[in-house]
Amino acid sequence: MSKINIAIDGLSGCGKSSTAKAVAKSLYYKFIDTGAMYRAVTLYFIQHKIDLSNHEEVVEALSNIQIDFEFNQESQKNETILNQQNVEQEIRKMYVSEMVSPVSAIKEVRVAMVAQQQEMGRHKGVVMDGRDIGSVVFPDAELKVFMTASTAVRAKRRQEELAEKGETVALDDIIENLESRDHQDSTRAESPLIKVEDAIEIDTSDLRFDDQVQKVLNLAESRIEKVE
Ligand code: C5P
Repeated sequence: MSKINIAIDGLSGCGKSSTAKAVAKSLYYKFIDTGAMYRAVTLYFIQHKIDLSNHEEVVEALSNIQIDFEFNQESQKNETILNQQNVEQEIRKMYVSEMVSPVSAIKEVRVAMVAQQQEMGRHKGVVMDGRDIGSVVFPDAELKVFMTASTAVRAKRRQEELAEKGETVALDDIIENLESRDHQDSTRAESPLIKVEDAIEIDTSDLRFDDQVQKVLNLAESRIEKVE
């Protein structure tokens, strides 16, 4: 059967990654969470106190960063590995969320990440979620989805996710972080978050998780038929 690439872009915290992961599982495709890659770079920059305005320091730091994904049987999750260290838990914490948008706005960071992402999707059969997948990483993706949800719904879901991991964060702080990241991600000069013309928008505010996955799967199946 022919394989396609599926690009899922959208606002922060609207369920892109969990949807992409479920779609990939169902199609036996590879799932790639590009937000995790930008988060891993951010964690490295924080740990090594990289000055974001110092071009040479940024370039040097990037040359020392290796990001991989490793499937964990127990959690049934692809976990993020930064320089051989599992950072899956750390990169989801609020202090990383607060720094990730300025780091992702740096051109050199994007060039390095996009090159890796394009390589991962070279043979098709990839479901990738992020902000610039349909616009920059895979402009030829056979299916492009743009996900949205109301801020209230996104914040509540994010709060529950953090609570499950033992981090208690006030709803107002989460709302502030989501809105600030949406603003920074949509207004930056380098590959801003946009809904490309050929993307199909799905508002998940009132959708059950299984229904949003099914919607993407239905679209994927019709695109797969087309390429066969
Ligand atoms: O998807 P997630 O919310 O984990 O992404 C974290 C941050 O990484 C986003 O707010 C954005 O700044 C950045 N990002 C990006 N391009 C992508 C994926 C994520 O700039 N393709």
